[in-house]
Amino acid sequence: MLSPLILVINCGSSSLKFALFPLEGRTPVLVGLAECLGQAEASIRIDHAGTRDKRAIANAGHQQALDCLLGRLGEMGLLEPISAVGHRVVHGGERFTGSAPITPEVLADIEACAQLAPLHNRANLIGIFAAMKALPDTPQVAVFDTAFHQTMPPEAYLYALPRLYHSRLGVRRYGFHGTSHRFVAAEAVKLLGLDPDHHGLIIAHLGNGASATAVLNGRSVDTTMGMTPLEGLVMGTRSGDVDFGVLAHIARHEGLDIDGLEALLNKTSGLLGLSGLSGDCRALQEAASQGHAGATEALGVFVHRLVRHIGALAMSLPRLDALIFTGGIGENSALIRGRTLDHLGLLGFELDSAANDTMPRGESGVISRGAGPKAAVLPTNEEWMIAHDTAAIAGLLSNSAQNERLAS
Ligand code: AMP
Repeated sequence: MLSPLILVINCGSSSLKFALFPLEGRTPVLVGLAECLGQAEASIRIDHAGTRDKRAIANAGHQQALDCLLGRLGEMGLLEPISAVGHRVVHGGERFTGSAPITPEVLADIEACAQLAPLHNRANLIGIFAAMKALPDTPQVAVFDTAFHQTMPPEAYLYALPRLYHSRLGVRRYGFHGTSHRFVAAEAVKLLGLDPDHHGLIIAHLGNGASATAVLNGRSVDTTMGMTPLEGLVMGTRSGDVDFGVLAHIARHEGLDIDGLEALLNKTSGLLGLSGLSGDCRALQEAASQGHAGATEALGVFVHRLVRHIGALAMSLPRLDALIFTGGIGENSALIRGRTLDHLGLLGFELDSAANDTMPRGESGVISRGAGPKAAVLPTNEEWMIAHDTAAIAGLLSNSAQNERLAS
C-alpha cells in the first residue's frame, strides 16, 4: 500500500502555493507555486525529487491551476496517496478557535468571515471549492491564521471604539500568522528546554508581512496585527500603525477615497514607501550598504517600530524567557536581528554577535548570551503545521503518533 500524503493548499488572490507532505517527517516530497493566475503570463512550477518543472498555463484560474497540478501529480503517481487536503484560511473570525474539518456549515462560516477579509477569504474559498471538485472523496480541513490568537483577553483584543461595532460588525483585533506563531512557540519550548506550563515568549514573524506575538504557556495573549493584517509593524508594502488623522489629512488634500487609502496603506507604504526603492529587506540592506539614504532610513524605522512593539508586548507577559526571530527577515537578516537586540538592553537581552552573524540559513539557534532572556532564530514551517492539523483532524494519526510527532 502507498504511504498516505497530505496536500497543503494556500490560495492567494492570484496565486496557488502547494506542498505535499508524508505523514512522517517534516520535509515535503513536493512543493510548488502557480502564479499570475487569470493573466496571460500565468505559470505553474513544481519542485520534486531535485528537479523543477515549470509550465505556462496562459489565463488559467485557480480551478485550471489545480486541475493542472492534480494531472501532474497523477502522472508522477502521487495523486492516489493523497489522503487529506489542508487549506490555509486567513480569517476565522470569532467562530474558529482551532482548525476544522470542512463541512457545509464550516464553509458558510468561512464565507461569513469573508466580510472581515474580503480578498483573502474569497481566494481561500476558491481554492477549497476547486480542491473539493477535483478530489470529492478526500477529507478537506481549514487551518485559520487567526485561530491561535483567540486566547487573547478582551483588554488585548478590544479597540477603544463604541461597543456596538464589535457586536454589530465584528470589529476587534484578531491577529494573524497564527499558524506560524503556534509552530514556532512550540518549537522554542523544545529548543530552549523551557517548561511547557511556565514560560513567556515573544515571537517576531518578520517576512513580507510581519507581526509579533506574546505567548504565555503556549497561548497567544497579545499580538501586533489587528482586525486586518495591516496593524502593527512596518512591512514590505504595508504601513503598520498609522495615526488615522494622517489618513483624513491625505484624503482631503489628495482627493483619495476609502479604496484609494486602503491601496496606499497596503500596497505602496512600508519599506517600499519609506525607501522609494523596494519593499524587499535584502535589496534595502544592499542599497543601504552603498549609502542609499532612503533604504537606510526605511530599515531604521522598521527596527524602531519592531523594538517599540516588542517592549509593549513584554508588558503583556508576567515573565519573559525568550525572543524568537522567524520569517524570511527574522531567519536570514543578521543585521535586523542584531540591531533589534542592541535596542533591547532594558529588557535584559545581550547580543552574541558571533552567533548571530554566523547563524546558518535554515538553522535554529541561540544568538544571545548572559543571564537575561534568550534570543533565538527558529525557521517557521507553516505548511507542515497545516499538514499536521489536517492529518490529525482527518483521523490519519493515532493519538500517540500525534504526540510523538509534535514532540519530535
Ligand atoms: P517571507 O515573506 O517570509 O518569504 O520573507 C520575505 C522577506 O525576507 C523579504 O523582505 C526578503 O528580502 C527577506 N529576506 C530573505 N532573505 C534575506 C536575507 N538573506 N537577508 C535579508 N533579508 C532577507
